[in-house]
Amino acid sequence: MGARLVLLGPPGAGKGTLAAWLTEQHGLAHLSTGELFRQQIRRRTALGNTVSRYVTSGQLVPDELVVRVMTSQLTRPLLRRGFVLDGFPRTTAQAQGLERFLESRNAPLTAAIALTSPVPVLLKRLSGRRVCGKCGAIYHVRNIPPKRAGICDRCQSALIIRKDDQADTIRQRLRIDRAQAKPLLTYYRRRGLLHGLHADSSSGRMFTRATRLLRVQGWLNARDGARA
Ligand code: AMP
Repeated sequence: MGARLVLLGPPGAGKGTLAAWLTEQHGLAHLSTGELFRQQIRRRTALGNTVSRYVTSGQLVPDELVVRVMTSQLTRPLLRRGFVLDGFPRTTAQAQGLERFLESRNAPLTAAIALTSPVPVLLKRLSGRRVCGKCGAIYHVRNIPPKRAGICDRCQSALIIRKDDQADTIRQRLRIDRAQAKPLLTYYRRRGLLHGLHADSSSGRMFTRATRLLRVQGWLNARDGARA
């Protein structure tokens, strides 16, 4: 049984980078709400058309829709394998929806890990971020450059700047996050699930801290009797 984790933290805190590492190192399934929405937008599906105006302007997609989409991804094999949710939940209504769903599957959350980073660091990360237009891999022009400029190491596709990583949209996203973050942190703190992780320097250091946290808490071999 793998750990069932939620990653919290503002845009640019490193949730996607940490989630990808947890998948690579510890076999957890990585579900990114933003990535799922961007894929649907690229493919011009009905869901993509519905969420497009929210995503490109940095607004939150309505809770009910996000909960429905995300819980439909949480299949029983995936609950058994363990997962890391990146970008979901973002509001307490979403957290409640997720909790209700996991309770109904007898597969409670293992922990919520809150990544913290000062705003100037977030701004630098977001403005230098590049993503693969095909596989979604994340790079940074200075901190995590690809081997060949503008090309994804993993699938050789072109790297792009996300529309919502433009300066105005970044500010809007950080504003929305500030409003939503506190109640969400309180929600998980009250349930004894909240753990902080400093994500203010390099991704290597964040991984070292994450490994320590996972080891100390024993989440790498989480067993909780889920009937998945
Ligand atoms: P992200 O890649 O996590 O920064 O998400 C990009 C965009 O997708 C956000 O600015 C929102 O428009 C939308 N989005 C992602 N996750 C959520 C969520 N949990 N609730 C509502 N909207 C979301």
